[in-house]
Amino acid sequence: MLPWVLDDHDLGFLKKYPPEKREDALQSLLVSNRNSFKVPTISIFVEYGIFISLILACGLVHYLPRLFPTACKKLQPKLAPIRTHLLEAPLLGRRNAEPIPLFGLRWLTFQMPLRLEGIVLLALFLINLLPITAFYTTLAAEHNPRYPGPHSHRQQMQRYLADRTAVLAIGQVPLLFLMAGRRSPTTLVSGLSMNAIMLYHRWIARMVWCQAFIHAVAWTVIRIDQGRLVKMYQTPYWNWGVAAFMMFGGLIFLSLRSLRQKWYECFVFLHILMALLAVVGIYFHIHLLHSSSFRLFVIMTEITAAIWAFDRAIRFFNRLITSVQLRRSGRQLVKVASADVEFLANNKVARLRISLPAWRVQDGTQSDVPGLVPKLAAGYSIMLSVPRLQIVGDHPFSIAKARVIRDPKSEERAAFIDVLVNIQGGMTKKLLSLAGSKDIEGLALSRSLSVIVDGPYDHQLSLCATDHLLLYAGGIGVTYCLPFLEQHVYRGKFKTCKLVWMLRDLDLLEVLDEPLGELDAAADATKAKLFIDVYHTASRASEKGAPIATLEEVPAELPSSLSSSSDLTPQEEKSITGGLDDDDDEPAEKAEGGGRTANEGVLKRRWRNITFNVHHGRPDGIRHLDESVAASRADSLSVVCCGPRPLCDWARNETLQWRREREWADIDFHAECVLW
Ligand SMILES: Cc1cc2nc3c(=O)[nH]c(=O)nc-3n(C[C@H](O)[C@H](O)[C@H](O)COP(=O)(O)OP(=O)(O)OC[C@H]3O[C@@H](n4cnc5c(N)ncnc54)[C@H](O)[C@@H]3O)c2cc1C
Repeated sequence: MLPWVLDDHDLGFLKKYPPEKREDALQSLLVSNRNSFKVPTISIFVEYGIFISLILACGLVHYLPRLFPTACKKLQPKLAPIRTHLLEAPLLGRRNAEPIPLFGLRWLTFQMPLRLEGIVLLALFLINLLPITAFYTTLAAEHNPRYPGPHSHRQQMQRYLADRTAVLAIGQVPLLFLMAGRRSPTTLVSGLSMNAIMLYHRWIARMVWCQAFIHAVAWTVIRIDQGRLVKMYQTPYWNWGVAAFMMFGGLIFLSLRSLRQKWYECFVFLHILMALLAVVGIYFHIHLLHSSSFRLFVIMTEITAAIWAFDRAIRFFNRLITSVQLRRSGRQLVKVASADVEFLANNKVARLRISLPAWRVQDGTQSDVPGLVPKLAAGYSIMLSVPRLQIVGDHPFSIAKARVIRDPKSEERAAFIDVLVNIQGGMTKKLLSLAGSKDIEGLALSRSLSVIVDGPYDHQLSLCATDHLLLYAGGIGVTYCLPFLEQHVYRGKFKTCKLVWMLRDLDLLEVLDEPLGELDAAADATKAKLFIDVYHTASRASEKGAPIATLEEVPAELPSSLSSSSDLTPQEEKSITGGLDDDDDEPAEKAEGGGRTANEGVLKRRWRNITFNVHHGRPDGIRHLDESVAASRADSLSVVCCGPRPLCDWARNETLQWRREREWADIDFHAECVLW
């Protein structure tokens, strides 16, 4: 099985030489096998060892705080320097989430990894570089019956380089697939976020392509030297290799961020198709050589296919159990999950309330019940397909709310999850076709759609060990923060909790209307207090494709601060709403059929347990805790940010600076960056 061990084919090869030349021929074979196969295969095994250790280490770091929250809380302050300088700081400069243009080209960008990610990538690069550039031994031409001529040294080096790069490329294809699937074993064990998994996936892919390129060039040169290049194109194994190489090249090119973002669905479809063709190409490229020495590489390719199939099978099964229910009575034997669509914020946001089987949903007001199959809970994300609007393809959305209820009619347990969808230009825009429908009184009708749900994905953050929570949200990124507000109010997870929300368009406040109403009522019983600061950064939400809040395009000064907290009189509240509308470039339109502005509910309500302030402009730094929450050397603080990439980078850098000043026993940082 090991490719450098002599097999029957090699022994047959030796027999072709006269007895006095056999010793040289044997040496030549051994040196060749060592150079071509042993060096790169051992380096691949070393890489596998490091890879498995890193995945297990990530798994420990991810799951231990959930299993031993108190012990982790004690340990965290001691790890603060490691987190500040290694785990959370960008490798160079201040950008991590926001791509950096290369050579001033906006379509060619690069994502700066975090320092530890950078070190892992550097190690990966060296493991790939070393076996390509070092450990070569060649035999003198007079003792090398396989390469006897004057160009013996060059020919040997060409051949070894061609073989080594092939082994390295094929050996890393299983890693490439392990770092691709949402449900691959590595994703499940490591608990790494999809963003981190994708970072490694992209870099491994680039290395594999470079090696495939060197392999292709080296073999082309060898065949030209032998005068057999044209003939090679008549052999199926060669052509399968060419096909696999072309597929890899296409995959790398189509993965350019600019193309990926513009034609996402097209990218996903072609990516899956071309990746499969690449694996099939590699398989036949090796298999058709009919060499027992290459058995290991055939197995590696089969493992790759198995990893892909595992991911797809789990996702298919998950979709099935989550979205399709068998019915014991009635005419319909199966019931597919359905979503009731309601439009908010003047049709800029759609709320999808998706009905699901109760056993798949974790109610946000109750404590988590650990189980073998993870449940859909607020804070996780799902992949959502809406076949009526888009036949193939699914889209990721965060679960804003999850409830298990008892159906008053049937007394059966039922459940739903809410996702808040920011209307963009593709599938989400098609949702708007439902918005026009009105009943006879001109009121907007809610609409029902069949949906397929796959999830949960992207493990919910474990913040059980933190005392205070400071949430930063940009635009519809507030969806990600709502579950933390629930954890604070219903389960008293934190001593204090504050949300700082930046938005360009005040209409978006309507998104918080129902959730805050519920939380305010629930807080009467639990005595929890919530602090919410809204920063109205600009009113450019009507611009197509523009993120709702960015830090770059807002005035630097911090102007007037307005408040709608509970200690205001109704007259004061009225002047606040009026003040905002006057200042606004584009006054909020009237909501569908409602006859009131979309944000009035939130701005005019008298909150009992929520201190709700609205400001114009951008926040001045990140230290937005209420005065009552003094920094304490005994307490820990978590800063969570969800929003556009510049916002996440800004929050990360501010938090790192804050941690360096050691006001708190510990400050933790988490970012979820999206282009919503
Ligand atoms: C983990 C995660 C959670 C998210 N949660 C929410 C949420 O709670 N609410 C919300 O409004 N949005 C959320 N998004 C963003 C949401 O998935 C996209 O806005 C949506 O898929 C756009 O669909 P579209 O066809 O209308 O987009 P288009 O108008 O075609 O494209 C708009 C942008 O969305 C990207 N996009 C399109 N399709 C996908 C896809 N299948 N996967 C990833 N990106 C895509 C495009 O590259 C482009 O940048 C989330 C994204 C991620 C990665």
